[in-house]
Amino acid sequence: MKVDSVIKNCKIVGPTEIIQAGIAVDNGKIVAVASDNALPEAKRIIDAQGNYVIPGVIDVHTHFGVYHTFEEDTKDTIGAAFGGVTTVGNYLGIGKESQKGSYADSFDRWKETWEKYSLIDTFFHASIISDANLQEIKLNAKRYGIASCKFFMAYKGPEGEEIGAAPADDGLLWVGFSDIASLGYPARALVHAENIDIIYRIKPQIEASGRQDLAAWDDARPGFCETLDIQRAISIAKQTKAPLYIVHTHHGDSVNVIAQARSEGVDVVAETCPHYLLLDRTASFGPLGKIAPPITDKASSERLWQGIRDGTISCIGTDHASVTKEMKKEMWKAAPPGAASIENLLPLMLSEGVNKGRITLEKLVEVLCYNNAKTFGIFPQKGTIQVGSDADLVIVDLDKKAKLTVNKEHGMYDYILYEGWEVEGWPVLTMLRGNVLVDDGKLVAEPGVGKYVPRFVG
Ligand SMILES: [Zn+2]
Repeated sequence: MKVDSVIKNCKIVGPTEIIQAGIAVDNGKIVAVASDNALPEAKRIIDAQGNYVIPGVIDVHTHFGVYHTFEEDTKDTIGAAFGGVTTVGNYLGIGKESQKGSYADSFDRWKETWEKYSLIDTFFHASIISDANLQEIKLNAKRYGIASCKFFMAYKGPEGEEIGAAPADDGLLWVGFSDIASLGYPARALVHAENIDIIYRIKPQIEASGRQDLAAWDDARPGFCETLDIQRAISIAKQTKAPLYIVHTHHGDSVNVIAQARSEGVDVVAETCPHYLLLDRTASFGPLGKIAPPITDKASSERLWQGIRDGTISCIGTDHASVTKEMKKEMWKAAPPGAASIENLLPLMLSEGVNKGRITLEKLVEVLCYNNAKTFGIFPQKGTIQVGSDADLVIVDLDKKAKLTVNKEHGMYDYILYEGWEVEGWPVLTMLRGNVLVDDGKLVAEPGVGKYVPRFVG
């Protein structure tokens, strides 16, 4: 009996070591990791040519369905596949796909749409934007396998209306966190922490100045607003015993607060995004770089890199949203926050992280694959190269040079924040559950292979 495929001549990267071996794949699963001459016979042999092979990247933070319909935004999964991303954690229930009522009214359509049009796998995060959502936290975890819930501390008033979110006051957090704590692993409370009450006092003055530069957006939402609300969320998490997760950590002081809480034994996991590591407020993007929380200073970027190295920052996600220049003409009223970066995530981390000596390749696997799967309850199905895991694999050529440009990308968006960047390190083959999606720059699979991955509690 031949297995479906083997990948030979690999350097397999895990979170703690790199081994020289081959991988056998059958029925979508890894069935052997062994020296090349010990691999079973296969219908297809892929030669990795001595390159590194990493688990498929898990982008834990995406917003398909926020500014376009869910169906339209699934087009960006083609770009994800080109970029070595095989699974996303997608936030549902806000923006275009707002769901203030019962998830029972939308869940089947979301799942069917994903599995019909997408090229990669997904799990869902619930957005708690109404009392109805709050009341269904336990039900959605048990019924649909949606074990993580996001609370929007940074939204009320006009911003809240834009995404359809009711403000997450401390009482709402306390109720929601308590329910999450009662569910057990992998249930987790996710917070967008930025103190909106203070932002509402500062922002009008900056807005009145008419400034359109990127630094103006950062001035209107200073970093201490994040740090303060992380402290609030940690206090409520300690009291309720809810596992906590800080999405898109952007400020250096926040990293220090998270490190302190972790040292005290609080279960708080922190995420950051490539734009906070690689860009700063002096960039000339104007409204195109409007993201919440804002792109801030170089000192924060350095603290975030250090946080990745010292283990304070565990996961990296993109906060990907498909936006266009047309949507982002004016900073204050018109432009919605967000930027597209899912196709750039792995090339940027290979180039600016590994090849520039900021992190090791093992650390890259830890924060893009391994920790992401463990934190959200899809390990060892995903995030690792071991027998029994899904055959989600990426062959990486660490020496391949390329120029990032939106013209070569595949999503709904029409600009990227890394236009013209010369990067070194590139994914050359992406496999999802044994299906080769992209091979040497060519799309070789049809949308519709993506699946929904439930995460049931208890
Ligand atoms: Zn987000």
